[in-house]
Amino acid sequence: MSSKIWLSAPHMCGAEMKYIQSAFDTNWIAPLGPNVNAFEEELGAYLQIKHVAALSSGSAAIHLALIILGVKTGDEVLVSSFTFSATVNPIVYQGAIPILIDCEPDTWNMSPDLLEEAIKDRIAKKIKPKAIIVVHLYGMPAKIDEIMTIARNYEIPVIEDAAEALGSKYKGKPVGTFGELGILSFNGNKIITTSGGGALISDNEEYINQARFLATQARDNAPYYQHSHIGYNYRMSNVLAGIGRGQLEVIDERVNQRKANYEFYSQSLKEFSGISFSLEKENFFSNRWLTTILVDTIKTGGISNIDLLLGLEKQNIESRFCWKPMHLQPVFRNCPSYLNGVSERFFDIGLCLPSGSSLTDENKLFILDSIKMILNNKKTRDIGL
Ligand SMILES: *Cc1c(COP(=O)(O)O)cnc(C)c1O
Repeated sequence: MSSKIWLSAPHMCGAEMKYIQSAFDTNWIAPLGPNVNAFEEELGAYLQIKHVAALSSGSAAIHLALIILGVKTGDEVLVSSFTFSATVNPIVYQGAIPILIDCEPDTWNMSPDLLEEAIKDRIAKKIKPKAIIVVHLYGMPAKIDEIMTIARNYEIPVIEDAAEALGSKYKGKPVGTFGELGILSFNGNKIITTSGGGALISDNEEYINQARFLATQARDNAPYYQHSHIGYNYRMSNVLAGIGRGQLEVIDERVNQRKANYEFYSQSLKEFSGISFSLEKENFFSNRWLTTILVDTIKTGGISNIDLLLGLEKQNIESRFCWKPMHLQPVFRNCPSYLNGVSERFFDIGLCLPSGSSLTDENKLFILDSIKMILNNKKTRDIGL
């Protein structure tokens, strides 16, 4: 059998090695150094944002963002329910309470209507939410203008979780740069990777200085080790920042390759009315980190997303269900939530197709043939025999 086709494999370009080598040559094998500084600068230039702190993960970036905005025990934080758990966990690290907001069907992201409803309701209950975390899921920008307008009206700061959306834009402006703070992830499966890593970004210098301070164990400015705050070990390694610098050289190519995957699937599967794709509305530019489909079993004649996932698995092709919404997770089931049923439906019928930037034309044709074979109603158990 041919080798496995992964959902979103790391895709090195070769340029990473020269930066890694320079870290070794200069013995900067530490969570600081010239690659870290340069990676921050290069990311800032790419995103047109003033300040960047390179960190050990996107999760660490969200945690620091919450601390910087003063989120403490008992506070409430409004957050997209349709996301990966890493968006929500840091709220709980702070002893705060996630208030889960469902998505709307255009972008699959936080519903501005439900956000406003939740804010009004929380305020009526005498607890004004301390922050909003809005996610740009699968690379698609959220309705960020509307969300920022609501946030400004109620004077609640916004953290943008752009972990999946480096390279995505709204009205030509990179996502992650609209709110008070933005976060990125460079985990192994993201659009560019440092194997593991993340960044916190902001135009507010004070915020990013604070992030660097907290991320390096919160050392006071004193001749000995003195601490007036609880700190964290959240900085990015200089070796890994070298990988990031190499990856950043090809970010535009990576975005184009992901978008080409989406175009390929959406064009090639047009004839199947049971398969639908998320569309970029005017002003929305998605990096198409993952191509996602919705599978309408009535129109496919009974073939579901589960049939597709299992059928592809038999062909050694990895696909994945969409994120299970946080309000359906055992660990968050007691969190207050504002729901409309949209994310639950997307979870029930959605599927993420292989979307790596290193997929070859041959890979894509094989995936397409496999999908068509399943949709053309071959029983999944017959496939590959
Ligand atoms: C990957 C991801 C994160 C977390 O990033 P890590 O670098 O893995 O900690 C947060 N939010 C979303 C939406 C993600 O996809």
